[in-house]
Amino acid sequence: MDTVKQAFLAVVLVIMAAAIVYAAVRYAIFYRREHFVCPKCGHCWKPPLLRMIFSVNAVNGKILRCPACGEKEYVEPVRDRAPGRAHK
Ligand SMILES: [Zn+2]
Repeated sequence: MDTVKQAFLAVVLVIMAAAIVYAAVRYAIFYRREHFVCPKCGHCWKPPLLRMIFSVNAVNGKILRCPACGEKEYVEPVRDRAPGRAHK
């Protein structure tokens, strides 16, 4: 067997696993403390984890489809305890 190739594959797998763990930790923190607010209708929601990972990143927020009004909007994460319209 080609051990160099195997070692390279192992390194790639470790980097990929680290990237996935990093993303999971980031989103775990997001889910505990933050949510998105639709700029069109004001709906507050936390998108599914897979949607978070594969959605388009833009500056601080994301391009996501609002589950309430269906509009595709740029949304920024908002702290759960932000004053005003946090949770209804
Ligand atoms: Zn909306």
